[in-house]
Amino acid sequence: MAPDILDNIRSTIRDVPDFPKPGIVFKDITPVLANPVLLAQAVDGMIESTGITQVDKVVGIDARGFIFGALIAERLGAGFIPVRKKGKLPWQTRGVDYALEYGTNSVEMHLDAINPGETVLLADDLLATGGTAGAALHLIEQAGGKVLGSTFFIELTFLGGREKVSGSGPVHALVTY
Ligand code: AMP
Repeated sequence: MAPDILDNIRSTIRDVPDFPKPGIVFKDITPVLANPVLLAQAVDGMIESTGITQVDKVVGIDARGFIFGALIAERLGAGFIPVRKKGKLPWQTRGVDYALEYGTNSVEMHLDAINPGETVLLADDLLATGGTAGAALHLIEQAGGKVLGSTFFIELTFLGGREKVSGSGPVHALVTY
């Protein structure tokens, strides 16, 4: 991606200090989503960085991962699969618990979402500690999906989340901090 486009995207991401709790600087992507040119460039960039031109399924993580994941799936001619927070999916699910800084969280995926052998790209808005993406990758692999890689709009490199996900194919991020 051209450096000036990337700079434009980066400067449109809004830092919101102390949200949702003191000490966290929240990366607010809504100004990027609201801009049709930047949104299209962001989605193109997230695909381009992977080098993937064909994949069976794109998995997006609840909730902002649905936005990027669905747009990426549509562009690649792939199906979209949601990984959701526990209790949100209506049919039979497989779930996985993962550790947060304090306590645990759970995500789920429908049992029939991915057929064994299907190729999968994981997409999310932001890679922080990697717990959430790592859990999603675990679900995909349990279902027999072949992970081609993961693509994130933002990566907070200082949190080291990449280590938790790099065991499941190449990891790509458009904007890094
Ligand atoms: P983690 O499991 O720590 O990698 O957290 C990833 C998820 O938490 C992503 O899906 C983000 O939506 C959200 N998240 C974590 N940290 C931030 C942040 N600083 N700004 C915005 N979203 C965040």
